[in-house]
Amino acid sequence: MAEKKRYQVKGTYPQCACGSIYHLTAEEIESKTIDRENIEFTCPECDLVHTEQVKSACPEFAQECHL
Ligand SMILES: [Zn+2]
Repeated sequence: MAEKKRYQVKGTYPQCACGSIYHLTAEEIESKTIDRENIEFTCPECDLVHTEQVKSACPEFAQECHL
C-alpha cells in the first residue's frame, strides 16, 4: 500500500512566539481546518490555539487542493 503523502505545515504562534513544523496528510490537514481556508493549531508547548490561513501555513496543500 502506498504511503500517504505528507505535507509540511508550519504552525506559528505569535501569542507565545513558539513555532512547530508538522508533517500531516491531506486528511489530517482537512480535519484541522475550520472552513477549508483556515487551519487551527494548538501549541504543543503552552496549549494556546492559533488560527492561520492554510495558504500561508501550507502553500503546497493549498495549491494541490485548490483552496
Ligand atoms: Zn506556545
